[in-house]
Amino acid sequence: MFESDISELRRLGLADTFNDNWTRTIYSVDASHCTLKPSIVSFPSDEYDLQKICTYAHSHGLPITCRGAGTGLLGQSLTTGIVLDVTKKMNKILEIGDDYVVVEPGVVKAVLDKELAKSNKFIPPDPASSNYCTIGGMIANNSSGPHGLGYGSIINYVQRVDLVYCNGTIGFADQSSHDDKIDKMLKYVSSVNIKLNDHYPNVSKNSSGYRLDAVFENNRINPQKIFVASEGSLGVITRSRISILDIPEKKSLIILKFENIFHAALVVPYILQFKPVALELLDKGTMIEGWKTDQSENKNSCIMFVEFYGNDDNFYQRVHKFEDSLRQKAKIVESGYDPKSVSRAWSERRNSLNIAMKNGVGSRRPAGVIEDTVVHPELLHDYLIFLLKLLAEYKLDYVVYGHAGNGNLHLRPIIDFASKDCNILMEALANNVFNHVSEINGSISGEHGDGMLRTKYIPMMYGQTMYQMFKHIKSIFDDKKIMNPGKKIP
Ligand SMILES: Cc1cc2nc3c(=O)[nH]c(=O)nc-3n(C[C@H](O)[C@H](O)[C@H](O)COP(=O)(O)OP(=O)(O)OC[C@H]3O[C@@H](n4cnc5c(N)ncnc54)[C@H](O)[C@@H]3O)c2cc1C
Repeated sequence: MFESDISELRRLGLADTFNDNWTRTIYSVDASHCTLKPSIVSFPSDEYDLQKICTYAHSHGLPITCRGAGTGLLGQSLTTGIVLDVTKKMNKILEIGDDYVVVEPGVVKAVLDKELAKSNKFIPPDPASSNYCTIGGMIANNSSGPHGLGYGSIINYVQRVDLVYCNGTIGFADQSSHDDKIDKMLKYVSSVNIKLNDHYPNVSKNSSGYRLDAVFENNRINPQKIFVASEGSLGVITRSRISILDIPEKKSLIILKFENIFHAALVVPYILQFKPVALELLDKGTMIEGWKTDQSENKNSCIMFVEFYGNDDNFYQRVHKFEDSLRQKAKIVESGYDPKSVSRAWSERRNSLNIAMKNGVGSRRPAGVIEDTVVHPELLHDYLIFLLKLLAEYKLDYVVYGHAGNGNLHLRPIIDFASKDCNILMEALANNVFNHVSEINGSISGEHGDGMLRTKYIPMMYGQTMYQMFKHIKSIFDDKKIMNPGKKIP
């Protein structure tokens, strides 16, 4: 990219636009192990700025990548082109209604949570990165979190999206109206003789590919949902309207300890009968010291967080019934019935990835890529056997934690990034695991997305028919393939 691009963008009024080495280096990394150095970093103030940048980029064929907090784990916000950082100036909460909130994309989830709590409201999807991640990033990745079990992912809450497209035109979509590009997309999908649900995984959460199953769900058309999980590859989100719910009155968190992780996975379907809102697993490598009851315990031990929400009078009776029935199957380490101890325990759980990363030494680090697969919870036990057997064959140590109730485990093999075979090894693992996951009707990503690292496996998961549809949809929205290239479509 040339010096003239930056001068031209500044001349168009985009003063907060940079191409110095320092800024470009800062934006060359995210929370993945990937790096890509952008040519330009710009901080747009509003949709008019975005229109100007997109019009310029479109006419010059320059790649555009939007960026929230950069906590994406698969290189989603990295590019060699123009980075648009919306966190600096497009971060306002615009309106709070009885059952919705309207926000700009750069608002941080925890800031919004705090504001909504003043009206006793919340948006349930709760990534462990909530203190940093933005609503725009959450929508683009279809983020979720521990309470995805009881409440689903952000895709279940997005009512409306406003956007700027690659050529600077304005887009919008909600249940009652949408723009021409979306109209074209809906007509195209309807013209293809295909039963969508046959091509989507049998899982409770999915951030891989484009979510056409959610666009056409239960005989309703939800055009705004095409942008959820699209990783900025179809347009730049400028604002969104999100459903909000009342905060439940009562919460109880039970922490269970299992001596054997396979036994824990086997008990998951039994626990699900009690309808917890969260069911999380942490292996020995990801739990805090305080919960390790025995220093000499075997590597296979793990703990589970099981949380219940409710407003009913019988709430605590239900929780006690659950505890009684679990005593034969696991040790109860802690039972939290007051909001303070429950929230303290959750803040420890939010640290799981940080604790996991401490298992690395030097160039040996817990690696992403197969870290977000999801299978039906009934299959979790057999799937875990498959995974750990595979890692044993490769003589790899690992850490595992995550959303066991959804069948969505964050398993990271510990890989020597300095080894010359590191990429070959990761590719072999990914091929093996994603092939198996596709065969058992799971997804290669439950909540983290495809990004730079998983995009090439989308055809394996969805098959050629769906993949060709994804490519056609991309071409409807982004004729020059400048929107976050390499994500979703190579
Ligand atoms: C410690 C840690 C814990 C995590 N825990 C969870 C978890 O529990 N659950 C979970 O789901 N994820 C989790 N994640 C992953 C990540 O935090 C989430 O996906 C998060 O929602 C990304 O938000 P962000 O603002 O950082 O987005 P970024 O990483 O900046 O961007 C993500 C994607 O969104 C796109 N994007 C951003 N803004 C826009 C916009 N305005 N328009 C169009 N596209 C846009 C970007 O181009 C990119 O493709 C975790 C990550 C870390 C580092």
